[in-house]
Amino acid sequence: MMSEHAEPLVFAAPPAVTLPVFGTNARFPVRRIFCVGRNYADHGIEMGGDPTREPPFFFTKPADSLVESGATIPYPPATQDFHFEGELVVALGKGGTDVTEAEAPALVWGHAAGNDLTRRDLQAEAKAMRRPWDMSKGFDRSAVIGLIHPGATLPDGVLRLTVDGTVRQETRLSMMIWDVAGIIAHLSRLVTLAPGDLIYTGTPAGVGALQRGQTCTVSVDGLSPASVTIA
Ligand code: MN
Repeated sequence: MMSEHAEPLVFAAPPAVTLPVFGTNARFPVRRIFCVGRNYADHGIEMGGDPTREPPFFFTKPADSLVESGATIPYPPATQDFHFEGELVVALGKGGTDVTEAEAPALVWGHAAGNDLTRRDLQAEAKAMRRPWDMSKGFDRSAVIGLIHPGATLPDGVLRLTVDGTVRQETRLSMMIWDVAGIIAHLSRLVTLAPGDLIYTGTPAGVGALQRGQTCTVSVDGLSPASVTIA
């Protein structure tokens, strides 16, 4: 656990990770980033799973992998198959353990559009060799996010991802296998959730590769877009 110390630090502490919020200049302080795997049946099938039988599973990205919308990022190292995954992101303002689905909405502070950038070739290798996903999912600049819009409820709407203006992914949020309350309830049985946690809620079918020079934009009805350009 973190605690206050009077002793000096041996070098400067890394800067706190914060994100811009729609409608205010106050920023959202980030704690952890959780991501849900295979939360849309059509994507589960395209990745070789059976979505009718699998409970939600989770992986993480470091908080300092976040990229604010509008940024240009370098093509990442160690991959020839750099993929987009358009997703709804839930931002928590309260925490807890063993949260019920009925209690879960009270933890939600806001929502954002996001892109769970993935080194798909490294992920495939990790799956084949039963190794962790960290280097395929939690690499530098792998978590693109738009402005966080305050509010606990997000009406059902459309999530759409475009690459240079061409639609590549499109779904209704209601097509999620586990809805936001279900995700929070499951995750809170595995770890203690806390204010500042972000949850990337999974991607629909249509994932694909990004090339240098392309701009990828994730839009969710009612939210600001999450856009990134690959240098
Ligand atoms: Mn994802």
